[in-house]
Amino acid sequence: MASNKIARRGLMLVLSSPSGAGKTTISRMLLERDPNLSMSISTTTRPIRPGEEDGRDYFFVDPTEFNLMVNRQEFLEHAKVFGNYYGTPRAAVESALSSGSDVIFDIDWQGAQQLGQAAREDLVSVFILPPSTEELDRRLHSRAQDTDDVVAARMAKAPDEMSHWAEYDFIVVNEDIEKSVAQVQAILAAERLRRQRQIGLTEFVKRLQEGY
Ligand code: 5GP
Repeated sequence: MASNKIARRGLMLVLSSPSGAGKTTISRMLLERDPNLSMSISTTTRPIRPGEEDGRDYFFVDPTEFNLMVNRQEFLEHAKVFGNYYGTPRAAVESALSSGSDVIFDIDWQGAQQLGQAAREDLVSVFILPPSTEELDRRLHSRAQDTDDVVAARMAKAPDEMSHWAEYDFIVVNEDIEKSVAQVQAILAAERLRRQRQIGLTEFVKRLQEGY
């Protein structure tokens, strides 16, 4: 009997939030639970933090190299965030999508906008909000890697970043991490079933109609 697995194009799941709202934890848990998801590893000019690894957390490059990559059109999108440059390498994403794998992106609103312009039909965007300002402050302070200055700068940027919530397809208020992960998994499950992503449907239905 012929396989009835229907070919599907992968989707780009973008998670954005102000720093400290929990998107890194949510991404990590989604990746652990879902073998069909991989993380897009961005390139950045920001200095490496203790505990980070080149090639795992980011590809760390200097501004000259970053510029060369921009000129060679190696990024799907790129933006300046907190004074440093960040970009999404194009090749890895394109090969994942065409082989039916989904890719998760931890990028800011500028990146989400650019991906929407480049490939709206592949994009599913989720904005994560903190349950309160106090909780955002508490989460930022509990991150050991950052100095007080960095925490203050990120806190100051939060209202601005949050102002972009209405540009996203879905909004998750991260009060409880397990609940938020389940909500994003529900979004993923529904989006994977969209007709236009199931590119093997025409052939599948044809076989059904022909009785084999
Ligand atoms: P961090 O330096 O704390 O890892 O990230 C700072 C901000 O940059 C976060 O809001 C993160 O989502 C965003 N960011 C990380 N990689 C990219 C990227 O490739 N493109 C864009 N536009 N933003 C990114």
